Amino acid sequence: MKKILLATPTMHGEEQQYIQEAFETNWIVPLGPNVDAFEREIASYVGAPASAALSSGTAALHLAVILAGVKENDTVFLPSLTFAASVNPVCYEKAVPVFIDSKRDTWNMDPAALRKAFERYPHPAAVMAVHLYGTSADMDEICSICKEHQVPLIEDAAESLGTAYRGKMTGTFGDYGIYSYNGNKIITTSGGGTLIARKTEDVERARFLSRQARDPARHYQHSVIGYNYRMSNIIAGIGRGQLLHIQEHIEKKQKIYRRYKEAFADIPEIEMNPLNKNGTDNNWLSCMTVCAGSRVTPEQIMDALAGADIETRPIWKPMHLQPVFKACDFVQVEKGLSVSEDIFRRGLCLPSDIKNTEEDMKRIIQIVRAQFEG
Ligand SMILES: *Cc1c(COP(=O)(O)O)cnc(C)c1O
Repeated sequence: MKKILLATPTMHGEEQQYIQEAFETNWIVPLGPNVDAFEREIASYVGAPASAALSSGTAALHLAVILAGVKENDTVFLPSLTFAASVNPVCYEKAVPVFIDSKRDTWNMDPAALRKAFERYPHPAAVMAVHLYGTSADMDEICSICKEHQVPLIEDAAESLGTAYRGKMTGTFGDYGIYSYNGNKIITTSGGGTLIARKTEDVERARFLSRQARDPARHYQHSVIGYNYRMSNIIAGIGRGQLLHIQEHIEKKQKIYRRYKEAFADIPEIEMNPLNKNGTDNNWLSCMTVCAGSRVTPEQIMDALAGADIETRPIWKPMHLQPVFKACDFVQVEKGLSVSEDIFRRGLCLPSDIKNTEEDMKRIIQIVRAQFEG
């Protein structure tokens, strides 16, 4: 039986042409015409003034944290329900993350909990919003809270390239935004990332820091610590080819989500991940939760699918439950089981590979449905 995967790269051919050009012109370095063009093309796609192409989304987040002025012992607010890559860069700078609970109708950072965090820690150095699984966070509220407190906003849009909120692309709301092109994201370069910023100077500063922070002097001179975070010209070629097909990827992801939603509509115990009512989702991963008190557990569904060679993934385990972050504070609106932990316990990510066929979808759906029957 065919193995069905969660999400894998989908290449189209143009990627290889851009790589070929790089070989023919010997631009096998972390700069070059593909890098310059990819930076312009991504900026133009999302509507940002400029972008810096980097070696990963994590590298982009690290530079965003530095550019936001986050220093040792500073507080940074970010959602608990996310991938560890959101928080690690905060820790690279020896700042202290404070985790914020999720809101049930988006799974993203709850603005009410964010307000509460400001009461507890009035002067954080930055706020980071994450658009989980391609669903936009509540940017109206989050932006206005940050503005009110005059705190820089970083957007981790690693999973949400192409997702808009009120017609504006996620990643472009904050002072800094990042995208990822890791192997299973909506477009991929095998690995890579982008930093965008409200101010073009910040993008230039990111490029400077990403090239070992070499001063514009004749000799190798350095006044600050730098990083080797540039994207290679080969990788950027893959990105350019992928970007030509992003709309097609998004439409296929949206179709997968709708297919699951319809297929499970008559099972009251299943709920699909909520989409932001003000957003257009890229539906990077389709997720489901089983209702509280259901006799079917996510583990049971994942095991049944695994038994048929079908790959799933648990929901990200909240950061406030991670051993490495056990000393960090967590802010939730109401006492008791947090929303983020509840989603984690009741949810799973369904196969969302855009190459999956209708036959594959039927196989997945039939196995999931079988768990709730009889
Ligand atoms: C993938 C991801 C990242 C990291 O991106 P890389 O390119 O893998 O470094 C950061 N945050 C979130 C939420 C992600 O899903």
